[in-house]
Amino acid sequence: MPPAVVLDRSRISDPALHAIADRVMAGERLTPAEGVALFRTSDLLGLGTIADAANRAKHGDRVTFAANQHINPTNVCILRATCVFCSYARLPKEDGAYRYTMDQVWAEAEQAAGAMTREFHIVGGLDMKAGLAYYTEMFRGLKARHPQVHIKALTAVEIAHIARIEKMSVRDVLVALREAGLDTMPGGGAEVFSPGVRATIADRKLAGSEWIDVHRVAHGLGIRTNCTMLYGHVETVEDRIHHLGMLRDLQNETGGFLAYIPLAYHPDNNELGAELGRQGTATTGVDDLKNLAVGRLFLDNFDHVKSHWIMVTPALSQLSLHFGVNDLEGTVVREKIYHEAGAHTAQAMSLDELLRIIRGAGKIPAERDSFYNVIRTFDDDPTRAAA
Ligand code: SF4
Repeated sequence: MPPAVVLDRSRISDPALHAIADRVMAGERLTPAEGVALFRTSDLLGLGTIADAANRAKHGDRVTFAANQHINPTNVCILRATCVFCSYARLPKEDGAYRYTMDQVWAEAEQAAGAMTREFHIVGGLDMKAGLAYYTEMFRGLKARHPQVHIKALTAVEIAHIARIEKMSVRDVLVALREAGLDTMPGGGAEVFSPGVRATIADRKLAGSEWIDVHRVAHGLGIRTNCTMLYGHVETVEDRIHHLGMLRDLQNETGGFLAYIPLAYHPDNNELGAELGRQGTATTGVDDLKNLAVGRLFLDNFDHVKSHWIMVTPALSQLSLHFGVNDLEGTVVREKIYHEAGAHTAQAMSLDELLRIIRGAGKIPAERDSFYNVIRTFDDDPTRAAA
């Protein structure tokens, strides 16, 4: 059990945050108006202090990560023209379009054989030629070759796409995928649930309420999932809180979410970035930290908040460990989606580097499995606070 947490109020300068801090420390749920106030405050360190206390009450100084490998089997997507924030998708005959054969999937996954990989993270486009049989064959083959590796695959948007092209229910698709080896689902495709924002950035994508419905069905089947929010484009802070409210409500109902992962919008090589005149300018560090800290405080029924170093840089992810974050994106092998959108971070991170980042923040690194069970703790480095 983490030790009792003391909140250092001298670090909070915004008077509005004091009342919120009292409610957080009393275990009370924040209202939407309080969530908006957290986003609006200019007292970043005050916000971080409260989020850090809430995080330490749940996790102490432990920071987890998973040894995972990303596989993106197809970038062909029927929504390529209407998800204007996406830099990854291609039309079937467009330059750069690809769809892996099973042999290519096996070859890419082969890197897991000699590595510490415990999870395949598999997402791609809405490809008319990648239906249920494509993924069931892929998952069966991966499990046969790497039985120890967990399969976290297919966003709610991809699941709904497979259901549509196969003329099946979401439930039946999930049952078939689980029989083939699906263990959990990632949280992508959520973007921002507000209909106005969705109409602007992802007009034809699954509606927010439909995204929630797919996760509700998955949770009902015992399939745990993650959830995300893509921030830093045209959404308002009210839109963000509305989005977090829908996630919090579903978590109340099912308890099926494992982690919340805010995703920073990257404006390069996509239509939205050009329209907004934002190419080359990603989200700011302050907004990145606020999204993580507010996620920790508003989503009081979530255990885990993850920082995605690929999007916000390893340096900012390290800082986020004092802003409510208890989990870092793992080792990853060959990330493609955010690098197409201008991410300048590395495409993989070694175990040593992850340990250095976590220890350098004065925290205790621990490797976890996909259900957040700790596998091993690296608490043998007495110099960690000074790294
Ligand atoms: S965001 Fe997803 S659904 Fe939209 S175009 Fe890109 S790959 Fe397709």
